[in-house]
Amino acid sequence: MRAVLLDAFRRPLRNLRLSVTDRCNLRCSYCMPEKDYVWLPRENILHFEEIERLVDVFLDLGVDKVRLTGGEPLVRRDLPALIARLAARPRIRDLAMTTNGVLLAEHAEALAAAGLHRLTVSLDTLHHDRFRDLTRADELDRVLAGIATAAPLFPGLKIDTVVIRGTNDDEMVALLEFGRQHGAEVRFIEYMDVAGATHWSWDRVMPRAEMLARLERHYGPIAPVREVSSAPADRYRLPDGAVFGIISSTTEPFCEDCDRSRLTADGMWYLCLYATSGIDLRRELRGSGSPGELAALIRSTWGHRRDRGAEQRLASRDRAPLIPLERLRRDPHLEMHTRGG
Ligand code: SAM
Ligand code: SF4
Ligand code: SF4
Repeated sequence: MRAVLLDAFRRPLRNLRLSVTDRCNLRCSYCMPEKDYVWLPRENILHFEEIERLVDVFLDLGVDKVRLTGGEPLVRRDLPALIARLAARPRIRDLAMTTNGVLLAEHAEALAAAGLHRLTVSLDTLHHDRFRDLTRADELDRVLAGIATAAPLFPGLKIDTVVIRGTNDDEMVALLEFGRQHGAEVRFIEYMDVAGATHWSWDRVMPRAEMLARLERHYGPIAPVREVSSAPADRYRLPDGAVFGIISSTTEPFCEDCDRSRLTADGMWYLCLYATSGIDLRRELRGSGSPGELAALIRSTWGHRRDRGAEQRLASRDRAPLIPLERLRRDPHLEMHTRGG
C-alpha cells in the first residue's frame, strides 16, 4: 500500500517536476524575454546521485509521477544516464519529460533506450520567422526533425503550445493537424503570468472559451472527453474523433486538484508554480540530513501546504508582472525557467 501524504486541502503529494538544469538553448518570449540572466551557481547543481537520493525520499512519501524538465533538460550532460537510473525504480509509475525539442533528434533513441515512458515537446509555431521571433533562435527545423524522430519511439507523444493572442493564435488548426500527422496530442496552454513572464499582459491571453470557439468554427462541434484526472489539461474530441487538450491555468485554474510540486536543479523545493519561497533540500542533503530527516521535513511542509497560486492571481485585480525584474535577478529561483513549468 503506497503512502498518501495530504496537504491542508487534502491534495496528495503525487507528482514531482524535476528540473535538471536552469540553462536553456532558447529564449521564448513568454518565459525568458530578457537580455541576460543570473544562473544558479554550478557547484550547487545536484549530482545524479543526489537527485536519486531525493527522489527516493519522495517515492517513500507517495510520489509516483516524475517529470524531467529544465530550463532545457537535454542540455544537461548525460541525461539518459539519469533517466536509466530513475526508470529502474518501479515505484515511478510515470516517468516523463518536457523538452523544447532542439536536441531531440540526436537524443531520442537514447531516451527511449534509457526507459523514459512519455515525452512532451513544446512547439508554438510552424513558421520559421515566427519561431525566430518567439525564441530568438533559428531552430524550427531541428525541433521538427526531433518530433519526427521521437514520435515513433514515444507513442502518445504530446505537443504543448502556448497560445498568445496576436502572435500564434491563428495557428491552432495547423498545429492540431501537424500533431495528427505525427500521432501526437496537442495541448493548448493559456499564457500564464508566472514569474519571469515579464512581458505578460491580459490582452495577450487567449482564454479557453475563445480557443474552443475558434476550433469549432473550423471543425464543427467539439465535445469534452469525460475523465477523472489530476492532469492539468482538459481534453476534447473533434467531430472526427481526434483528441486535443487545453490547459486553462490563467482563466480557469485547477489548483483544487493540484498534486504537483517542483524541485529546482539546485535542490530548492517549491509547492506551487507561483510560490515566492521554497524549501532548501540541498542544504539538508549535503548537511547532516538523513533520509528520515528529509522525509520528516517534506512531510510536515506538504502537510501545511495551502498554495493556490493561480486562483489567487485570478482573484487579484493587479495583474502586473508577478515579480519585478530586480527581484528576479536577486533570486533566479523565482523564474519559470528555473522551476521548469
Ligand atoms: N524547456 C522545456 C520546454 O520548453 O519544453 C522545458 C521547460 S519549459 C519552462 C516548460 C513549459 O512551460 C513549456 O511547455 C513552456 O511552453 C511553458 N511555459 C513557459 N512559460 C510559460 C508561460 N508564461 N505561460 C504558459 N506556459 C509557459
Ligand atoms: Fe522556452 Fe522552455 Fe527555454 Fe523557457 S525553458 S525559454 S519555455 S525552451
Ligand atoms: Fe498547483 Fe500552484 Fe499551479 Fe495552482 S498555481 S495548479 S496550486 S502549481
